[in-house]
Formats: sequence, C-alpha cells, structure tokens
Amino acid sequence: MSMTRTTCPYCGVGCGVLANEDGTIKGDPDHPANFGRLCSKGASLGETIDLEGRLLQPKINGEAADWDSALDLVAEKFSAAIAEHGPESVAFYASGQLLTEDYYVANKLMKGFIGSANIDTNSRLCMASSVAGHKRAFGTDTVPGTYEDLEQADLIVLVGSNLAWCHPVLYQRIAAAKEARPAMRIVNIDPRRTVTSELADLHLSIAPDGDIALFNGLLTHLAETGRIDTTYTSAHVSGVAEAVEIARASNLNDTGLSAQDLATFFELWGSTNKVVTVYSQGVNQSQSGADKVNAILNCHLATGRIGRAGMGPFSVTGQPNAMGGREVGGLANMLANHLEIDNADHRAAVQDFWGSPTICTKPGLKAVDLFQACAEGKIKALWVMSTNPAVSLPDADGVAEAIANVPFVVTSDMIEKTDTNALADVLLPAAGWGEKDGTVTNSERRISRQRAFLKTPGKARPDWQIISNVAARMGFGKAFAYHSPADIFAEYVALDTTLTPAPRDLDLSIFADVDYNQLLPTQWPRNGHRFFSDGQFFHPNGKAQMIAVTAPKLSKPRFALNTGRNRDQWHTMTRTGKSQRLGAHLAEPYVEIHPADAIELGAKPGSIIEIESLYGSALLRTLITDRGPQGQLFAPMHWTRQRSKRGTVNSLTAPVVDPVSGQPALKTGSITAQIYRAA
Ligand code: SF4
Repeated sequence: MSMTRTTCPYCGVGCGVLANEDGTIKGDPDHPANFGRLCSKGASLGETIDLEGRLLQPKINGEAADWDSALDLVAEKFSAAIAEHGPESVAFYASGQLLTEDYYVANKLMKGFIGSANIDTNSRLCMASSVAGHKRAFGTDTVPGTYEDLEQADLIVLVGSNLAWCHPVLYQRIAAAKEARPAMRIVNIDPRRTVTSELADLHLSIAPDGDIALFNGLLTHLAETGRIDTTYTSAHVSGVAEAVEIARASNLNDTGLSAQDLATFFELWGSTNKVVTVYSQGVNQSQSGADKVNAILNCHLATGRIGRAGMGPFSVTGQPNAMGGREVGGLANMLANHLEIDNADHRAAVQDFWGSPTICTKPGLKAVDLFQACAEGKIKALWVMSTNPAVSLPDADGVAEAIANVPFVVTSDMIEKTDTNALADVLLPAAGWGEKDGTVTNSERRISRQRAFLKTPGKARPDWQIISNVAARMGFGKAFAYHSPADIFAEYVALDTTLTPAPRDLDLSIFADVDYNQLLPTQWPRNGHRFFSDGQFFHPNGKAQMIAVTAPKLSKPRFALNTGRNRDQWHTMTRTGKSQRLGAHLAEPYVEIHPADAIELGAKPGSIIEIESLYGSALLRTLITDRGPQGQLFAPMHWTRQRSKRGTVNSLTAPVVDPVSGQPALKTGSITAQIYRAA
C-alpha cells in the first residue's frame, strides 16, 4: 500500500505519520520526533477524515455562493473599512493549525500591505509567555532544547505540564529513557496529581501560581550552597546579583509545599548537572507567566546548565504549528523571521524585501485585546482563520458578543457549524489536514512537511490560496502571485537568508537548496547545532540576561477553576469529536472536585454542579477525586455550545492576561460552585 509521509496535526510534538486515503495511519519510523510511535489521537486520525460536517463551498449570509462573489465581498469590505477607518480597524485572528506558508502569507498581507499588526493567533493561548521569557533572557525567541536532551538528562523537572495526556509521545520517550536508565529522576510540579505524576519520583503539589516562589527559592538555594557557576555567569550572563537579591525576598510558604519536599527538590536540582526543566501551560497560562518562565530560565543560566546535551529549559508548545507561526511573525508583536516591529532597521529590511507599500509601525492587538476592541466597536472587519474563539478564548460568551458586534466577519474553516462560524457573514471553505501541503515546526524547532493524500473536497481551497486571492482583489496581486506552498516557503527562506539585521537566531540557510517535495524533517539552524553551546546569546552584549522576578501576591478564593485538556480530545473537538473511540474516553463535560468539597456541596459522583464566575455559568457533571487539592476544581475546555447545552468552560474563565506576554490566565479563576442536581 502506498503511504504518504506527513505530520500529525494535533500537538507540538510534531510526530511523523504515514497515511493512506483509505484511512490507514501509521507512525513514521523514520521521523526523529516519534520514531514510529503515535498516541491515541494520532492513531485515530483515519477516523476523522470523512466529509461529515465539512464546509464545502463559500457561503454569504448562510446562502451558497461562488468563490468570486465571496472573495470580492471580503476584499471590498476590508478595503472599505481601511479606507474609511484606517488599517487599525481590521484584524485577523489565526491558528496554530495553519501551516507555516498560510501564516507567512496572512502575516505579509496584514503587516506589509494593509499596514497594521492586528494579526494574532490562538497560539497566544499556548506559548506567548515563553516567547516573552526567551526574548528577555536570550535576546531572541530561541528554544534551546531538543527531544534527545530529555533522554540524556539525569533529572527531568516537569512544571505545569501533563505531558502524558498533552504531549503523549514525548512522555513515552521519557518513560522509555527512564526504564533504560532507572537512575534518571523525574520531578513533577503540578497542583494536580495527573497521569504524568505516576512516572515521577517526586510530585510537588504546588499552590496555584506558586512557581515563582519555588524557582526563586531554588535560585536562593543555589546561591547559598555555592552552586552558582560564577565562571560561566561572569563571562556569559548579566543581572545575576539583582535576580538573586530579589529571589531571596520570596516567601517559600507561597509554594504550599512542605519544608522537606522543598529541601529534597532543591538538593536534587542543585546537585544534578544534567537537568532539563520542561514546562507548558501551567506556567504559560498565568497572569505572571513570563515571570514564571524567567524564574526557571534564571536557574539554568545561573548554573550554566544550558547549551549542552541533556540540560536546559524546554518550553513545549501545545499547537502543531505554534512554533512555525512565531517563526514567520504570526503574533501581533513580531515581524516575520524573528524580526522586531519596534526596530526601524528590521521594519525597513522586511518592507524592502517584500517591496510592500507600507509596514506596520507598532505592535497590534493581542488575542484578548483584539476581541475587546471588537466589543468596543473599533474593529470593522474581522477574519478568523481555522479556529473557534467563541469557545476557546476566556470569557467565551463575551467574545461571541464581541464578534457579533463587528460589522463584517469572515471565517475560513474546514468545518461548517462552529460557534464562531455561526456569527460570520461569509464562510470560506478551507482544505484540511491530508488535503493540503505545507510545513509545520515542532517544539524542538524541527520543520516537517504536511502532505496531501486526499482529494480536496468540494470547493475547498488551501488557506494560503484563499488569503492570496483576497490580497489580489485588494490590489496586491503581484506580491501574492504564488502558485504553490513551495513558492511561499522559498520566499520565506530567501527573506531569512538575504536579511542583514543581526544578530538573530533564526537561520534557514540549511533549507536554501532543499527540494521542497523531498524535504526531510530538519531542525533549524542546522541539524545537530546546539544553541548557546558557545556561551553566546542574542542581546547586543552577547550575554544572557537574568530577570529579577517577584512572586505575585496570591489570593485564595474558596473555589478556583483550573482548566485543561483530556487525553483523547483536541481543542474544540471539530476533528477528534468524530472518532467514537476517542469519544469513549471521557464522554461528556465534567468537573473534577475534591471529596471534601463534594461533601460540603452535597455532591455525589455524577451529580450536576453549577459553576458560576463573574463572566458566565456552566453545568458540569462531578467527577469526585483527590487528584487535585481541596478548593481547586478542574474542567477540560473541549465541549462547545453545540455539543453541550450546559455552557462552555471558557464562559467561566476571566479575560485576564499576563501584562508582558498577553497570554490569558486560564488556570486559576475564582468561581462559586453549588449543587444543581443530585446524582
Ligand atoms: Fe500527534 Fe502529539 Fe500524539 Fe504525536 S503526541 S501523535 S503529534 S497528538
């Protein structure tokens, strides 16, 4: 049977997949991310490629339309809004599901031809705090780690990361490495005891948002036990004394951990040279997310445990192409190719390369602010690409109202009936996974091909083509005359290799002579190159910067809501919801609640609990468990209004963001809970 070599469309591990149009799916034994492994989601991909529920032709106000009419209308409405209200009156909201080529073209249209930076993405919900932390510490958004580091480490610290469910193949690789090398130690830092904790030698049930106090405590311990590598820091790191001084003021009681657990963790971390600290949404999705990231980076920089095999901080991305999106500037505060909007030389270089009539001069609206601007009537035309913000953003009901408030809304999507599409004036049918070609970048900076192995159904088109079609109708046809994703990738590589501003981390020269059709999974800047191995960072002085971070004042609501994901579902279930096998795992919306809280509320297993916040309410079935601490409820965010009439979890979450990164705090919302119906 002939199999097409492609990449899984779910998480940021970026596993290689062999796929056939009859639905046969296998792990790619030659892909360096997974070496043939797949998790339950990846293995079920064949069950999700039918056409049920697909958007197969353009629609205008709910009526079938031809492509020309729909594209003309989109271009006309965007052009009219720009002419009447200026470029800041329009916005794109994109997705980590987009391929790098799609992202590149959308970013080029908005920043270089419309002249606004109002293009943000649901990746803002995934890793924006890590991007901000990297830039502050390293001078660039550089992820220094590789998956091999995890297998070579003697200590892996997993912070705010349920890897077993959210990055399962990475978890499998770590589990296999630990089995082969039982001396490897694993510490899991998470308020909840998750499946990931079962692999850990030590589980630290940290207080919500206690991470800065913990890593400041670790930094203090490193200083007091003489473990700061002063030879390394004096040559390569700035800001050490200030960071240590501020760290000393942190109160370890804020961690919620016992003195014994703290001592064990500090000593283990301090005495182990090969440490990798892995972190994801429990760190990033916080009002102090960027500071948490820097608290972690500080400890690695202070000890020089970075840039060598088996050690370093490692942010793992949630989305399959969160990394590719940030490479091509798919965030409102970045230009393409890791260049800075705030830097006039960078702006000039990109504008010159694109030959564009304009270039954005200031950062645009980040996700939560973007929809707030919609609510305030500042956005006159909005394009949502391959995502469902009316369910996935915090204050989801408020976001739905905000979208409804925009005079003209267009969505491009492969699914017809989503909560967001219901609010759109124009629906554009997008080709989905298996139907289009392009590239994605995984958490270890490895660029892999997604390849089509199915016929594009109905009148669907790939996103890059839809965006280019609209750009042409707005008068920018010459700059968007792409014939294939290969053309776009070549331009992206050329932009990088012809740029003069330096220093930058993103070096795509390895791809300059590569045949796109034959492109093998390849890490930038060069396979096997280890960032920071020479002690050189990207700040102008060549040094890394430790950031003095202060632990936030913690409030203790009676009930706090932690949100997250299930093992077998992906985001708002548009694809995984099609698989009966995946749906059987956890079949309906639920909330985990501690036994003592259940007694207080009079709830039994299966009772319905009514949860309310300042923003909305939802009815969720109780799953009574002591996995999480008393007072903390946990609910997955997958179910949409269309799948559950009982309200969505993100209608409860607050539109509160980290002031540095703009990433929403989705883990610690204050709620009230009461019994709605006994089991
Ligand atoms: Fe897909 Fe992630 Fe599972 Fe790999 S670990 S198969 S990329 S969902």
